[in-house]
Amino acid sequence: MRVLHTVAEVREALGERSLAGRSIGFVPTMGALHEGHLSLIRLAREHADEVVVSIFVNPTQFAAGEDFERYPRTLDADIALLEAEGVDWLFAPSAAEVYPDSVQVAAMTAGPIGDRFEGAARPGHFDGMLTVVNRLFDIVRPQVAVFGQKDAQQLALVQQLVREHNLPLEIVVAPISREADGLARSSRNRYLSLAQRAAAPAIWQALQLSAAALGDGVAQALELGRAHIAAQPELSTEYFELVDPRTFLPTEQPEHALLITVVRAGNTRLLDNLPLPGR
Ligand code: AMP
Repeated sequence: MRVLHTVAEVREALGERSLAGRSIGFVPTMGALHEGHLSLIRLAREHADEVVVSIFVNPTQFAAGEDFERYPRTLDADIALLEAEGVDWLFAPSAAEVYPDSVQVAAMTAGPIGDRFEGAARPGHFDGMLTVVNRLFDIVRPQVAVFGQKDAQQLALVQQLVREHNLPLEIVVAPISREADGLARSSRNRYLSLAQRAAAPAIWQALQLSAAALGDGVAQALELGRAHIAAQPELSTEYFELVDPRTFLPTEQPEHALLITVVRAGNTRLLDNLPLPGR
């Protein structure tokens, strides 16, 4: 695997002339890699000739007071995982490289979806996320980019970005990768205390209980899910809703809808969701 740090190095290594028609599959990450990230990398490999992973803890998607400074940074372990996975290229830029003073990096705005749920809880988060994703797409110029279903609202916004700007790439979605007990894998799971970690599988249980009860009425099914989480003293529900997966507006129609939740364990916010089938 070759590690690239600058835009100039990416241009040189991954420019059209260097790759001679080989396609690029891109997996943007913030590092602290786990099995979930590796599942995205395997999907990228299925869809493209060269796999490029980026590791960049993007300052513009963290609000003041969030965990930017203490977000886990484990570059050596990440590189070992990527090498073992057979990744071809790692792009690990500095913030100055991604946001150089001399270049106007067009700030993106997420629009109405960006104000709901995660956007309401984290003002500016999705503007920062879209800005860096757009910038990384422009630097790497992939034919395929893989995003996780885990961050469903992020995914909806990236898909909207690609549609609205006619970006010449395909977004591939990776299903949520879970621990054996159902907890969705996340770099932030390492913040959990033993007691919080023991309680956390109730989140996935609650989503499944609620999904199974939707036939009896949406409001009742959501209450059932929330009650399952409330039964755990270590956990508290921030939101637990049924939404349209493209607009993130609440819906009463379970078909093709998305159950979304954020559960707090101490200061840690745990995201999870469950896409529902059609009739
Ligand atoms: P992050 O490093 O948290 O920014 O995540 C990088 C990518 O990995 C995003 O597209 C996430 O949605 C995806 N991802 C993170 N955790 C999981 C998971 N447990 N299952 C599937 N995708 C995931």
